[in-house]
Amino acid sequence: MHIDIITTLPRLIESPFSDSILKRAQAKGLVSVNIVDLRQYTNNKYHSTDDYAFGGGAGMVMMIEPIDNCITDLKSKRQYDDIIYMSPDGELLNQSLANTLSLKQNLILLCGHYKGVDERVREHLITREISIGNYVLSGGELAAAVVADAVIRLIPGVLSDETSALSDSFQDDLIAPPVYTRPAEYKGWKVPDVLLSGHQAKIDQWRMDQSLARTQTRRPELLKKG
Ligand code: SAH
Repeated sequence: MHIDIITTLPRLIESPFSDSILKRAQAKGLVSVNIVDLRQYTNNKYHSTDDYAFGGGAGMVMMIEPIDNCITDLKSKRQYDDIIYMSPDGELLNQSLANTLSLKQNLILLCGHYKGVDERVREHLITREISIGNYVLSGGELAAAVVADAVIRLIPGVLSDETSALSDSFQDDLIAPPVYTRPAEYKGWKVPDVLLSGHQAKIDQWRMDQSLARTQTRRPELLKKG
């Protein structure tokens, strides 16, 4: 998989991809993440990417021309499955959408700033809009990092134990069961006996019961879905 992230603030988004699982995924050649500096696609002396809003009002608007130049350049090198604008009013990110995106080959994530992008970008240049939640961030970079992380960890081989992603919360519409590690007792707080029993069938049953109970109390709407 290849992901291009278009931004005016490359530094804001570099660090999530420079450590741990996301770094290893790139080192293993399972994904390449390319941060694209939108300012390189401006034709004006000051490399500005935004301008005042027609009709007035507070807040700058990102201009269509640099974005068009940038996307056109990227498209001349690759065929993209989706060109995604990060937007608070977009389709809400959930596990099922992350699963869908993890099957794609080439993606562009476009990060907005200020008041957002000129509406004509949304009408003509992109194929999809994704929101990471009903709240407003100051820029699309953190949202793009969230989407990329949720997607990349699903690519086979990225997590060392491949079954691990499958047993995470929201796969199968269930919340993950509680987990424990050593010591078996800390300040008198004990790990449930069954996990120390060595009896795998009982452990599996306990985990399933915990998953169902947690889903019932924390996300009952997931159980109603099926
Ligand atoms: N004026 C816009 C908000 C712009 S916020 C509105 O009211 O809808 C600036 C940029 O941050 C957006 O262009 C978008 O790229 C990003 N952004 C903000 N909140 C986001 C969210 N919840 N999910 C995804 N991107 C978001």
